[in-house]
Amino acid sequence: MASDDKLKFVCEGCNYKFEKNRTWNTRTCPFCGKKGTVHEERSVADLLDDPELGTCISL
Ligand SMILES: [Zn+2]
Repeated sequence: MASDDKLKFVCEGCNYKFEKNRTWNTRTCPFCGKKGTVHEERSVADLLDDPELGTCISL
């Protein structure tokens, strides 16, 4: 099960980095409260490893 699977996020607005469950889709920064500035933080290796993740952000 992946119910506790965590993803790393980073806010472009304030550069705050945090972790949330994979199912978290509010995309609101818990630090500055802005919407639309939060993106998943991934390494290049992760991106190359899983091409489906290119669609991770849909606003
Ligand atoms: Zn922020």
